[in-house]
Amino acid sequence: MSCELRRRSRLGVMIDKSLGAADDLRRQVRARLSEGRLPFVDGVSKSHRGTGRPCIVCRRAIDPTEVERELDGVVVVLIAHEACYALWREESKTRRDSSI
Ligand SMILES: [Zn+2]
Repeated sequence: MSCELRRRSRLGVMIDKSLGAADDLRRQVRARLSEGRLPFVDGVSKSHRGTGRPCIVCRRAIDPTEVERELDGVVVVLIAHEACYALWREESKTRRDSSI
């Protein structure tokens, strides 16, 4: 018996299809924001070419062919894909507006 065909990553780290993944990612961002595992996007960010470091949002490396977002004013430097950043910022705003 082989279960290799149906093997899936529980953490979603190996998601390689882009369709459906965005919704998944949004759910993850929302959950992590509400659990305090991801800081709210606030303040200034810079965008530049990726350096191969992992994105804080989706945890995939940001290739030099992609745009990397770097956030200032946080204790550690946070970087994210342009698209992930947009999603993250959106969810940050939504959370902040709805809570308190
Ligand atoms: Zn990302």
